[in-house]
Amino acid sequence: MTKFTDLDLEANVLAAISDAGYTSPTPIQAQAIPEALNGKDILGIAQTGTGKTASFTLPLITILSKGRARARMPRSLVLAPTRELAAQVAENFDIYAKNTKLTKALLIGGVSFKEQDLLIDRGVDVLIATPGRLIDHFERGKLLLNGVKIMVVDEADRMLDMGFIPDIERIFKLTPFTRQTLFFSATMAPEITRITKEFLSAPVRIEIAQQATISNTIKQGLVSFKPSRKDRTFKEKRELLREIINAEKENCKNGIIFCNRKVDVDILMKSMKKHGFSVGAIHGDLDQSIRMQVLDGFKEGSIRFLIASDVAARGLDIPDVSHVFNFDVPSHSEDYVHRIGRTGRAGRQGSTIMISTPAEEKSVIAIEKLTNIKIPHVDYRSEPIAEIKSNKRHTKKESLKKNTDRDDISDEGTKKTNLKTKNLSKKDLKYAEDLKNAQQIIGLGDHVPAFLTINFRN
Ligand code: AMP
Repeated sequence: MTKFTDLDLEANVLAAISDAGYTSPTPIQAQAIPEALNGKDILGIAQTGTGKTASFTLPLITILSKGRARARMPRSLVLAPTRELAAQVAENFDIYAKNTKLTKALLIGGVSFKEQDLLIDRGVDVLIATPGRLIDHFERGKLLLNGVKIMVVDEADRMLDMGFIPDIERIFKLTPFTRQTLFFSATMAPEITRITKEFLSAPVRIEIAQQATISNTIKQGLVSFKPSRKDRTFKEKRELLREIINAEKENCKNGIIFCNRKVDVDILMKSMKKHGFSVGAIHGDLDQSIRMQVLDGFKEGSIRFLIASDVAARGLDIPDVSHVFNFDVPSHSEDYVHRIGRTGRAGRQGSTIMISTPAEEKSVIAIEKLTNIKIPHVDYRSEPIAEIKSNKRHTKKESLKKNTDRDDISDEGTKKTNLKTKNLSKKDLKYAEDLKNAQQIIGLGDHVPAFLTINFRN
């Protein structure tokens, strides 16, 4: 197995890594670091959680340790799609560069230009920025990008989702074409492939893990919910969420609650606060300083629940999250993988529960297809999900086999478990049927009373 000492990193970087407690490089680090140190362009296809931040930060520090920064001409540039991710890269930089004299500036929206101008004027080795704010600085004439030797683009697929690709192209063109480029994306949409072809020079392609892998340290559960009346959906859903959280008892140390819409993030936060929960919210419309404050509060434990939208929470590295709750079923299946990946990190156990209304059934099926895992229905009242002994994950095939071995779900039960099927394609319909037949309830052993199976699927 590769060791950090095999990677030609500077001694002071190795010391910082050892202080951070890392014993060996992750696969992306083992592959990317030697190539980056050789001056190669890198196309890294990897998600957050793989250690990709260090895979570009460590060589960056080693390469930049020779030479000095000049006023207004940063020597390297790291672009991240959101303020939080940019701040996270900056935090990582501080950890790994602590034994060096390298300087950094973080250019993100919501912070005054004046402070940022001062840093740039002094000369920075590493400029970490979101694309919009970087362009603002450039247009104000305060920043020159022709001294950039290394440019990193992180989470390019998220940049695409957020409409930043034209900005990225523009920034690429403002930097010298001789620069070294380290480019990371979890997926390779055609638009991403196009820009890598245009701006990367003979890149080394490093692909890590599949798109939809879910760590086996995460226990998943699904709670079906049908409102008593349509106009009561959100109120009743909030009530249900509180019940689910309370049923997890002390197992739920903290949690991130995802909503699909920003407006629901706000409403849910107010409602939970009113019910005595310690909560904070992050979404794209909130002021930067508030977002950072909330995030810090959550990390240090003064805020127990973080209510979040996908964009704001994507890629956030908070190592110790016991639970992820999906208040809504995400409409993009990949977002489910990203959301629940906030828990069960670094070998810890994590739990995740998703509430699904009949209208969201189609999205649940899409997630199960993407991950090839049937999300088990849980009876949250009978046993906290965190205490379920084995949350055995079933592929479709296994689930079906298991079902043929079982005769404890009565005909009456299965007949009444109607899925909302009118919007489904033929293929999805077949899959939905398979899943319905494979239904199993976690936490009740093999003795599932028929009435429970009826309730859960209605
Ligand atoms: P990232 O994919 O960059 O968001 O990193 C995910 C987490 O892994 C962060 O908390 C890092 O501090 C941690 N990490 C990165 N590299 C290593 C390593 N070689 N050994 C242990 N943890 C690491």
